[in-house]
Amino acid sequence: MRTQIVVGNWKMNNSISESIALAEAVAAGIADIPLNCEAGIAPAFPALGQVASAISRSPLQLAAQNCHFEDNGAYTGEVSTSMLKSAGCSWVILGHSERRQYFGEDNQVVNRKVKKALAAGLKVILCVGETLEERESGVTETIVNTQVREGLQGVDDVSRLVIAYEPVWAIGTGKTASKEQAEEVHASIRATLSELYGSQTAEGIRIQYGGSVKPSNASELFAMPNIDGGLIGGASLKPEDFIAILTACK
Ligand code: PEP
Repeated sequence: MRTQIVVGNWKMNNSISESIALAEAVAAGIADIPLNCEAGIAPAFPALGQVASAISRSPLQLAAQNCHFEDNGAYTGEVSTSMLKSAGCSWVILGHSERRQYFGEDNQVVNRKVKKALAAGLKVILCVGETLEERESGVTETIVNTQVREGLQGVDDVSRLVIAYEPVWAIGTGKTASKEQAEEVHASIRATLSELYGSQTAEGIRIQYGGSVKPSNASELFAMPNIDGGLIGGASLKPEDFIAILTACK
């Protein structure tokens, strides 16, 4: 039985004080309710340290939205895995479609980051997903499973890995994949993981769905057999919505 996991990706939003206030609101909102899932938040880099303090007495875990694949050095503007750990992160989101689309990250770069983050002891959310054009051309599963295979090239230990299936056409658009569409791709990803790591290991890997998850659709998505929680963008910026999504876990 996999424990579901819900993580809020705050993207490039919120000042440090706004981030602390949002983190405190979520922490307070879940303080008295039984959580059936793991829960995390991913603020922007400048807020990580102070948000870590704000959630230190809550079950919320801290995630970063990216990292570099080198330990240190002349990489202006980049952030290393040890910096993330020293700021209090236990998770890092890698390969998000916005990183792929706007910052030219391909599967090879994502793979280097995944290996570095896992080697550093971080837990990794590896994001995969097809564009609308790819879906309409009927290559969704080929694209997504190639992202999984190439993103995990040379990765032997997947005990700290979560996959997030995020159809690009559903991110920030208000269009959610139907529960059937999402389940079909999640099952296909699990079949690929089974080929790579064996069925027992694959059964234990959580696969989140991301793409316009809201309080109104979270329960039906999270009820599907291969959907193990969500990676939440826009709705994670509203504490009441994010808490409602957390409570939708089975
Ligand atoms: C995301 O960016 O990971 C995401 C799922 O965004 P949204 O929920 O806003 O579609």
